[in-house]
Amino acid sequence: MRQELSLDTFIQRLKSKKLTDKRTGQNAQYDVNDAAQAAFAIFFMQSGSFLAGQRHLRQAKGKGNAETVFKMERIPTDTHIRNLLDPVSPYELSDEFPFLLGQLADSGYLSQWHVLDRRLAFSLDGVYYFCSKKISCANCQKQEHEHGTVYLHSAITPVVVAPGQPHVLPYVPEFITPQDGTEKQDCEINAAKRWVEREATVLRQHRAILLGDDLYSRQPLCEKVLGSGLDFIFVCHRESHTALYTVVDAIANLGRLACFSQRQWNGRHGEIWTYRFLNNAPLRAGEDALSVNWCDLQIVHEETCEILYRNEWVTSLQLEQENVAEIVACGRARWKSENENNNVLKNHGYHIDHNFGHGKEHLATTLLTLNLLAFFMHTIAQVADLIYQQIRRALGARRTFFNDVEALLRYLIFPDWSSVLRFMFDQLELEPD
Ligand SMILES: [Zn+2]
Repeated sequence: MRQELSLDTFIQRLKSKKLTDKRTGQNAQYDVNDAAQAAFAIFFMQSGSFLAGQRHLRQAKGKGNAETVFKMERIPTDTHIRNLLDPVSPYELSDEFPFLLGQLADSGYLSQWHVLDRRLAFSLDGVYYFCSKKISCANCQKQEHEHGTVYLHSAITPVVVAPGQPHVLPYVPEFITPQDGTEKQDCEINAAKRWVEREATVLRQHRAILLGDDLYSRQPLCEKVLGSGLDFIFVCHRESHTALYTVVDAIANLGRLACFSQRQWNGRHGEIWTYRFLNNAPLRAGEDALSVNWCDLQIVHEETCEILYRNEWVTSLQLEQENVAEIVACGRARWKSENENNNVLKNHGYHIDHNFGHGKEHLATTLLTLNLLAFFMHTIAQVADLIYQQIRRALGARRTFFNDVEALLRYLIFPDWSSVLRFMFDQLELEPD
């Protein structure tokens, strides 16, 4: 595996970052980088008790894997992690996402995510990563409920997805702030615009196509995407786009909507997949409406004629009979961001909340970023590290792998992560593929 993609090199990069440290004088008992490595280690190990185990190991043997594998000088307490990371902005860490994506591209692994002639599809989706009735900060969003105010943090967590690819690659998140508005739609649209603006250069390098649900298929965002030299495939429902569907329906009634069907076998019964599409339709009412391309897909059971699936999209890509199936497949791949990424995050989110709380400044957002990076490193290993892949396959359930790694690191000291994997590989008596 390319060195820059390994966990050991990532830890070194994390250690060498110049992170904001607001303390002055001698009270710097713990290093701010130790706090970042410690939080990262908890997420990477998927264990809130990892550091406690390493403290015991250190007491018994004079050192532990916090020092060797995760390169901490000292093991900070939860309180220190909280206090040290709170002033650190998540953007001090976010350059890792384009760096790792670039390394995956250079080493050829990124081609597994290529769609529509070597492009990348970024799926945008909102996620709550902090929620409390008691704790709040200046960056909290507020929701008024019957039983009182709820304080929230939410973010758009973009991921690279591809049809048929089970893994997703996280990308730089965009944090939703109270200034973004109070409605879910305003919040996500404003944050998405900011994200497109900030990340446009990297996104253009990957010829990005943005995917999103019906919230995203609104003219200001679509214009922003196009103006940044990017493309989009957004879900576009009838209820929220009446002007567009007036045109689609009129053309359909004239029998002039392009339409074709394919039969697919799903392993149990036949399905009829019917695509319809129309280029150059107005996204909304009015003279200044953006011209977009519309398509839909309906899947029916071949024998019972039951509708198994239907959805509709607008895109900036010119639709033709040759590409509409792939464009629709990309549009449908966005469900992966909900399943893969956000499930992992939400389960982790519990850890974030539980172990560290929330901070006054950046803590919640910086922890989310470290959590995404830990998720990224496991995903990279799953596609680029043959030893890691074989161990995961041999152990079956995801939880078994993490339990085993934690147990090993509780009792044995390893010089680095690759030695942990090598040990497991040998003890499982695996043969190189
Ligand atoms: Zn807050």
